[in-house]
Formats: sequence, C-alpha cells, structure tokens
Amino acid sequence: LMQLFRPLDMLGWVYRTIRQGLIDMALMFRLIDTEVEVKDAPGAPALVVRRPTVVFDNVEFGYDRDRQILHGLSFEVPAGDHVAIVGPSGAGKSTIGRLLFRFYDPWAGRILIDGQDISQVTQASLRALIGIVPQDSVLFNDTIGYNIAYGRDGAAQDEVVAAARDASILPLIEKLPQGFDTEVGERGLKLSGGEKQRVAIARTLLKNPPILLLDEATSALDTRTEQDILSTLKRVSEHRTTLSIAHRLSTIADSDLIYVMNEGRLAEQGTHQQLLRLDGLYAEMWTRQAHEREELEEAAE
Ligand code: ADP
Ligand code: MG
Repeated sequence: LMQLFRPLDMLGWVYRTIRQGLIDMALMFRLIDTEVEVKDAPGAPALVVRRPTVVFDNVEFGYDRDRQILHGLSFEVPAGDHVAIVGPSGAGKSTIGRLLFRFYDPWAGRILIDGQDISQVTQASLRALIGIVPQDSVLFNDTIGYNIAYGRDGAAQDEVVAAARDASILPLIEKLPQGFDTEVGERGLKLSGGEKQRVAIARTLLKNPPILLLDEATSALDTRTEQDILSTLKRVSEHRTTLSIAHRLSTIADSDLIYVMNEGRLAEQGTHQQLLRLDGLYAEMWTRQAHEREELEEAAE
C-alpha cells in the first residue's frame, strides 16, 4: 500500500508546488494564464537560507530586447531589515519584484539570496521563501477560510484563525453568521479594499516567509485604511527581510534604508533624513507629496 501511496504523494506535492507558484504569480501579475519562460537548471538544488539577505548585483534587464529597463542595478537588502524602493512610476520598481520572484531572468548580472544565485536553485524553493502583498489582492470565489488557508497547504484550522487574528481580520470574520465559511468574491460577500488586503496578509502570514515583498500594498486604499493596514504590516514584517515598493513616501519614511530609482538606475540611497539633506530627487518628491497632502487635507475640511 505504501508503494501505491508514494507516487500519489509525489503528485500531490507537484500539484501543490505548481498551484502555489501560480497563485503567487496571479497575486503579483493578476494573470493566471501567463506563460512561464523560466526553467529550473538541470539538477538545481533547493535554496537554503539561514540569513535572508537579498542582493542585486549589476542586473541588466528588459522585457523586450530593444528596450532595456534596468541598467546595471546593484543594491542590497540586509537580512531582517526594512528597505524601501521608491521612485517615479515606470522607474522599474515592480520589475525588481518580478525578477526576485524569478518570473524573468536578468540579461546580465545576478540576484542572490543568502549568497545563492536564484537562477541556480529550484523555483519552488525560491518562491516558498517570498511572501507577496500586491496593490490589489485577488480573492477566489470561495470561502474566506479557503482564501486564507491556501497560503499554505495543509494548514490546520487553528493556524488559519491565528493568521486571521494577526492580520486583524478575525473580528470581522467572527461577526459573520457563517464565519470562515462565508463565501466571498463575485457571488459572495464583497470585501472592501482594506479587508481584501487583510486577507492577503493573513494568507502571507500562514505561508510564514522570511522575505516579504510589498508592492504598493496600501496605495489603493484611503488614507485612514492605509494607516491601519500599515500598522498591521509593520507588526507582521518584524524579523523578516522586507522590501517595500512605494510611491507614497510617507508610508516608507521610517525604513532602515531607502533606495531611490529613476529610469532603471539607482539614483540615491540613504535614510529619510539623509535623503532630505541630499536635496535631490527624493527631497523633491517629498516636498511635492507634502503639498499634495496639504491640498487633500484642505479639500477634506
Ligand atoms: P514601476 O513599478 O516603477 O512603476 P515597472 O517596473 O512596472 O515600473 O515598469 C518599468 C517599465 O517596464 C515601464 O516602462 C513599463 O512600461 C515596462 N514594463 C512593465 N511590465 C512590462 C511587460 N510585461 N512588458 C513590457 N514592458 C513592461
Ligand atoms: Mg509598480
């Protein structure tokens, strides 16, 4: 009987790995039918991580051969730190996340996690390490419990509850007559943008990845909800290497380190205070956004 079981087990594992990969991609790109171009190297080992430091080493990349997007990009995210990547839209910020997740391979240069080139390890082991919270999270037309639980296959109910609690969505769920069995999505309960982001956070917590990638995770929310979600994210990202991609600078000003990108290149780096003193692109963006915030506040009064 065991012999019969083993191939089935294997199939289950392959299925889960592929499904998780697809779900992560869908979360990131809002596409489920994208063709996967990247293949595992023959005999590739799993990525083994003790200290999840992320390094981009002279990365050159473009989606099309005739249009280069990243130009010799080098930067480091030290293990456990909170690093932000900011810059004008189109600068190449989200592209960094796609490369880190190895949706594409760089034209040249390397991306390393804990010293290991991510193109030389299995994609499944790489993707298991990285949790993504994108701008708009995708929910499946299924129960809210299912939507959280697929963060990790085989999660026990009490783990799902704990993840929901940590993501501050448990109070909402407990108020629903059907609780975790409430259908959400197109035919079910419509969740607000903030609630959807909390489901995505709970899902990510269940996955429990050492590396978190937040790509404009709160930018689609109103200011008040944004503040709520940011404080949740701050809590859950403690002790994890966190890469926050942001357009709104007020959300990342307290990062350990901020990289400013412009046209596919690293333009500036430093802490918020250092970048303000530098009086360059970051300082200019900060001042402009401060004016916009004031105008918004005045309009609201
Ligand atoms: P940011 O996140 O900083 O706004 P992106 O990394 O999303 O910028 O995009 C950088 C550049 O790459 C943009 O000019 C964008 O149009 C282009 N780009 C993004 N995705 C694709 C794609 N799938 N195919 C071709 N070009 C793309
Ligand atoms: Mg982007």
